[in-house]
Amino acid sequence: MKKIEHIGIAVKDIEKSNALFAKLFGKPHYKMETVASEGVNTSFFKVGTNKIELLEATKEDSPITKFIEKKGEGIHHIAFDVEDIEAEIKRLKKEGFIVLNETPKRGADNKLVAFLHPKSSNGVLIELCQEINE
Ligand code: ZN
Repeated sequence: MKKIEHIGIAVKDIEKSNALFAKLFGKPHYKMETVASEGVNTSFFKVGTNKIELLEATKEDSPITKFIEKKGEGIHHIAFDVEDIEAEIKRLKKEGFIVLNETPKRGADNKLVAFLHPKSSNGVLIELCQEINE
C-alpha cells in the first residue's frame, strides 16, 4: 500500500455536510459524483495532500443507510492507494482478510476499488483503490 488515499465519512444530508465541511476546511468541495451501483452520492474535499470523501445514501438499501442506522454519522472507511489492486486482493486474502469484492469495481473519482470486511480488520472498513489510467 502506498498511502492513505482518502477518508470516507457517512452523512445524512450531503448538502448540509458540504456547507459544514467547507466551513471547517475554509474551502468548498471540488467535486460531487453519484455512484449508482453503490447507492451513494459522494463529494470530495482536498486538505493539503489529503482527501476527504463525504457519502450520502441515495436509496434505502445503500450500505450508507445501513451504516447510519447502526452507528450514526461518522467515519465510514479508510481508503488506501495501491499500485496493483488485483495483486493486493490476492495478497490480503492469503493473509486472512475478508475481501468483499473479489473483482474490483468502479468507484468514485476514477478508481478501481475493493473493500475488506471490517470484522477482519479490527472494525475498520478498508477500501483499496487504484487509479484508472485511460
Ligand atoms: Zn472511499
